[in-house]
Amino acid sequence: MAEHELKKVEFTKEMKKTHTIITPNMAPIHFELIKNVMESFGYKVDLLRTQGREIVDEGLKYVHNDTCYPALLSIGQMMHALHSGKYDLDKVALIMSQTGGGCRASNYIHLLRKALKQDGLDHIPVISLNISGLESNAGFKITLPMIRRALAALTYGDLLLLLKNQTKPYEVRKGQSDDLVQKWITELTDLFAQNKAFSQKESKVYYDKIAQSFAAIPIQKTNKIKVGIVGEIYVKYSPLANNNLEDFLYEQGCEVMVPGILGFMIFKVDNRLEDVNLYGGSIAKKNAMSLLKWYFTKYENDLISALKPYPQFTCPSPYSHLKELAGDVIGYGCKMGEGWLLTAEVMELIENGYENVVCAQPFGCLPNHIVGKGMIRKVKEKMPDANIVPIDYDPSATEVNQENRIKLMLAVAQENRDRKEEENKKS
Ligand code: SF4
Repeated sequence: MAEHELKKVEFTKEMKKTHTIITPNMAPIHFELIKNVMESFGYKVDLLRTQGREIVDEGLKYVHNDTCYPALLSIGQMMHALHSGKYDLDKVALIMSQTGGGCRASNYIHLLRKALKQDGLDHIPVISLNISGLESNAGFKITLPMIRRALAALTYGDLLLLLKNQTKPYEVRKGQSDDLVQKWITELTDLFAQNKAFSQKESKVYYDKIAQSFAAIPIQKTNKIKVGIVGEIYVKYSPLANNNLEDFLYEQGCEVMVPGILGFMIFKVDNRLEDVNLYGGSIAKKNAMSLLKWYFTKYENDLISALKPYPQFTCPSPYSHLKELAGDVIGYGCKMGEGWLLTAEVMELIENGYENVVCAQPFGCLPNHIVGKGMIRKVKEKMPDANIVPIDYDPSATEVNQENRIKLMLAVAQENRDRKEEENKKS
């Protein structure tokens, strides 16, 4: 092996019994549920919930500051955990996703191995979480039942996030929506452990129970400014990366909408189909991907159906509609990073009354600068009410600066609302 090459340490079947898998946290609700899914398959998992500047500083020790911010943070969070003294360093493994696309996210895993080597910890196995066949491990297999459960967990995550965001700003008793999210995470965890609540038949029952429970929270509806959050997937969801963006917007008196992860999953599968449409490829691959897309879409349909009896909640549009929206302004071949889906999410939010949009991007993230910032003018031409602010996140960006830019966007939102109210009074 050449000196610059990094060794891959296998996660063996024996390690499944002895090792704790340390997992970075991207989306707090979703990942809590995914952790439970992994545990239901016999893995010991520790989901990192650490916060604060020290994670960034730790990341900067191992990852160059011009590397993608999500890589810097996840690696920083994992190295910080390894240095915490909490773990037996001979009984831990790390896990990291590898997208397999053309973006740098496929290479985060190598940066993590480099960081481990720098610290003499390269005996620690790093598991690649991918469905592209990039790396495999004897002790960690992504099976069909696991994919099924993970999909159900992601759908529950999307539903809980959506209902919490639409209830929390109006709740009479503060904290009730957050408490309900925790209650459902605990209840779903118990059900997962008993092999329940995964099948589509059972999930539908629980989606309805969840929607019912949020609808029962006493609220006082007021006229709040509605803000959507889009962006690079890690920065969009992770409070560590976006400096608690959702909380900040609540504190500013807004209602927030964050599009779910399920749409992104369908997008990733659909991209493989578009590859075949645009550049050619095997019919077998096309058929397999069509089947997978159909399967993923069933979960989306169930989520939308569960919300239909509750008109007080804004229901997300199906992926097929987002694709239609994007088709008017951007090509489907534009698919690195969040690709055309990011533009489509902006348009769908505006269509649903969330005309004010924060586009959260890692500084220097080329794909998202193109499909986010780069598309603002085109979106505004089609949707003149759009009030979009791109915000960069990186190790040196100051929170004050980010918040001031968002406050400026909110001031414009307020002006737009006042103007519309005036116009309505006159007409
Ligand atoms: S989407 Fe942006 S942040 Fe994510 S890997 Fe690609 S370049 Fe990096």
